[in-house]
This record gives sequence, C-alpha cells and structure tokens, in this order.
Amino acid sequence: MSEEGEPTVPVVCEACETETAVTLSEVAETVTSHNDRLHDGAEEAGVDPALADQLADVVAEDMGLLEE
Ligand SMILES: [Zn+2]
Repeated sequence: MSEEGEPTVPVVCEACETETAVTLSEVAETVTSHNDRLHDGAEEAGVDPALADQLADVVAEDMGLLEE
C-alpha cells in the first residue's frame, strides 16, 4: 500500500509455485535475484506470461518508445 500509484505485476515461479506482486521498477531485480538464489541462475521465475505482452507495451510507453 505504500507504493500507491506505481503499477505492480505478478511475478510467478512455477518451480516454487509462488506468485508475488512486484512493482515495475523492481521486476528485473526480483526475478534475477530469485533465480540466482533459488535456482542457480536458471530462468524459472518470470513475469506472468499472460501479462508479459501487455507489460512490454506499458514499459515501452513508460519509456516513451511509443511516442514521437
Ligand atoms: Zn522459484
């Protein structure tokens, strides 16, 4: 609740059967450190695939890549 205004995305790890809501700015770090710590660097955890496409758009928009 302290991060009001910042969108969160679900990071899921099928290997751990966990789902965690993470703010956009922390997704990359969270995924990397989770996989590092728990899966020896294997790419187990990641953004919910159903949202990945959507997220790509949001991030691109956020970075101004979709604007002239
Ligand atoms: Zn995991």
